[in-house]
Amino acid sequence: MPFNKILIVGSGPAGLTLAQYLKRHDVPFQVVEKAPVSRLQGYSVSIHFALPYLVLALGEDKMKGFQEYVSVNHTTDTGVALVNYDGQVLLKLDGIPALSGKGIRANRTRIRDRLMEGINVETDVEVTDVHFGDHQAVVKTSKGDICADIVVGADGLRSAVRSSIIGNKVQELSVVNLSASRNITRQEHEVFSKYSPTHFIMFGPKTSNRQGVVNFFYSINDVSNDGETYNVRWVLSWDQGLDLREIPNTNDGLHKIAYEMADQFYEPVKKLIQMTDPSTKIWFSHASQCMPDYSLDNRGQITLIGDALHAMTAYRGEGLNHAVMDAVLLGEQIVLAHQGKRSVTEALTTYQKQAMARGRTAVKASYESAMGAHLGFSTLYKFSMRVLNLVVSNLQDYNIMEYFWGNTHK
Ligand SMILES: Cc1cc2nc3c(=O)[nH]c(=O)nc-3n(C[C@H](O)[C@H](O)[C@H](O)COP(=O)(O)OP(=O)(O)OC[C@H]3O[C@@H](n4cnc5c(N)ncnc54)[C@H](O)[C@@H]3O)c2cc1C
Repeated sequence: MPFNKILIVGSGPAGLTLAQYLKRHDVPFQVVEKAPVSRLQGYSVSIHFALPYLVLALGEDKMKGFQEYVSVNHTTDTGVALVNYDGQVLLKLDGIPALSGKGIRANRTRIRDRLMEGINVETDVEVTDVHFGDHQAVVKTSKGDICADIVVGADGLRSAVRSSIIGNKVQELSVVNLSASRNITRQEHEVFSKYSPTHFIMFGPKTSNRQGVVNFFYSINDVSNDGETYNVRWVLSWDQGLDLREIPNTNDGLHKIAYEMADQFYEPVKKLIQMTDPSTKIWFSHASQCMPDYSLDNRGQITLIGDALHAMTAYRGEGLNHAVMDAVLLGEQIVLAHQGKRSVTEALTTYQKQAMARGRTAVKASYESAMGAHLGFSTLYKFSMRVLNLVVSNLQDYNIMEYFWGNTHK
């Protein structure tokens, strides 16, 4: 039966990709978003295995120039590196922004702008509760009730849709981080660009008085039009289960511990952190995740995509890629149900079965990366990485990396 309305809750990458897909297939939908449109998107992300799914959602025409437009450095020039605290490269991958698949490092605001093209998003509308009805789902929002044939919770880690139907399910992990964004000059960036044009991770040293290591992550967020100013984000992370430090509750206090932690890294990294303007906001957060829960019974009315279904840590750079993939796979099923080719319950269940199994694998893999990255590596492991680096740098087929790190999106 043709649908009257699909309600998409949340206008992040998952919700907007689904909106684009439904628009292309003439399925009526409405998007509501709790934030005002001006919401700041403060960090950059790697897009890799989502790229073919974005083509399915946006179409070939809208994808023309997409990669250059959303890319942090306005080109498809990217790469990622694993680096020792003293500046020595352990593994360097040219042209690969993530552990598996080729892609780009992208600015979140520009991704949102592209995904929003032609989509009407009703902002400042917060969903507070969702429940199943006789024929349609009923959604309570800050602006009144909305009824819809299908409600899609695309409302992220703290999903109100998920909480309404199966409970909160968020797990806060012991891995924590301090981060800040700041401007640097082109010359300052050039020192880091020997590792990667866009982003790299540096592993801190093991010290005798602490278990585990502190890691440093560097990524460009944006480059000014004249190419002279780079807005970059630095992140310091550690596992509180191995290294319990008191976390101050003032910005000055956070600057102070970041300053102290920076001492263990080689000079340019140390300087990047220690020369951050004292008035810059330092963010402190826990890595969190949400394992897809098989108690989710869609009853042909309510389902979840993206972080609302399977939030994962950022340590494999895959959450957004899975969110986009969910949106397209769900979109395909909704179109089939809209055309009367299958029942709505069958459509949602087919989508969920695939997305939950894939999501569980991805959440687990990202968890293992987050925890493993803070244990510190033995000399033998570092040596093996350098050997692998030699092999990879001599091979054109970079998908060899999937053999080592596994693929979560099959
Ligand atoms: C530091 C960091 C780095 C990352 N790096 C990468 C990376 O390199 N590659 C990658 O693939 N992924 C990365 N991720 C993960 C990625 O950001 C998420 O997986 C992705 O944003 C999920 O998209 P989403 O649309 O499901 O959720 P979100 O992006 O969280 O969007 C949810 C939307 O719903 C809205 N909303 C929330 N509640 C309500 C409500 N009650 N009513 C209405 N609207 C609501 C929110 O305002 C928001 O706009 C990273 C995450 C972090 C934190």
